[in-house]
Amino acid sequence: MPLAEAIPKVHLHCHLEGTLRAKTFVELAAKHGVPLRYRPASSEGGAFVDEPPERVDPANPYRFENFAEFLLAFAAASRALAEPDDYARLASEFVEDALAQHVMYGELFVSPSVWTFFNKDLDVRACFEAIVDRLRAARSQATFKLIVDLTRNFGAERAMRTAHLAAGLMDLDVVGVGLGGDEARFPPELFEEAFAFARAQGLRCVAHAGEAAGARSVRAAIDVLKAERIGHGIAAIHDPALVADLAHRRIALEICPTSNVLTGAALRDRDAFAAFDEADCRVTIDADDPAMFGTSIEREYALVESVAGSEALERFVRNAIDASFADSAAKATMHAAVSRRSEDRHVRP
Ligand SMILES: [Zn+2]
Repeated sequence: MPLAEAIPKVHLHCHLEGTLRAKTFVELAAKHGVPLRYRPASSEGGAFVDEPPERVDPANPYRFENFAEFLLAFAAASRALAEPDDYARLASEFVEDALAQHVMYGELFVSPSVWTFFNKDLDVRACFEAIVDRLRAARSQATFKLIVDLTRNFGAERAMRTAHLAAGLMDLDVVGVGLGGDEARFPPELFEEAFAFARAQGLRCVAHAGEAAGARSVRAAIDVLKAERIGHGIAAIHDPALVADLAHRRIALEICPTSNVLTGAALRDRDAFAAFDEADCRVTIDADDPAMFGTSIEREYALVESVAGSEALERFVRNAIDASFADSAAKATMHAAVSRRSEDRHVRP
């Protein structure tokens, strides 16, 4: 049996909204009478106008051609999540899918500023309560924490408000802030104050960088935002000094192979996880928005195992344990679970 199937798994780069099953998305959109796709009203983005619903195939509602369109598909799914009950369903289906794949731990991104962009009156705290209630129900098998994404597209001021929101949700398993969205137009420097505030509140800091912008964006994420992990980071490979720095400082790279291919972030000539691993960087593997990318954490692990082998996969899982924000006792327990699986594999034919 491939190790990818049985090995206990760790989510460090998974957007909860991006796990919304396509079928559930279609049902929620129908329930709230919202269409399955949007177009920005202008090239500047911001406001959205509805695309005629007949252009979207309900069997494949997440279809997209490029990174900008992917962000719109993500927005459409977020719009369909219109009340706390919907978030409860999202979280319980996530848990069901995660446990079926032997996920033992996860720090999941959520993007409340996208939720309220579409559903202005949404009771955000009630949504977090609904999510956390379902995540905690899995406690005997897996532990899940939340990272609030500050979402670049809404600008610095809004990001600061979202950081305040995150600080007020630490009792609901929020452990950090992240930064996703349109990296090319909204560089890390804009969010320095919001990240400094979050850090001062005791929140951990991570950021997407080097996915839709260059190595400078990764440099700014670690130096200006003091990000402790980098989402993707692919473009860093073009700056050897930066790669050496990431390796030396043990700043994990959360690499999502299928996502990186579909959004165009992947390297042309080789697999980014192999390139960074060779450079001694702390590589971790995840699925990003598995439902939207038609993948799963198990499939990403299997893909990596087929290219780099079982030993490399096990190293990446252990990297994810070490780079997580779990305490040292929980990390030791997770390492032991990986060891058990890995030994089992050698004992059994
Ligand atoms: Zn992401």
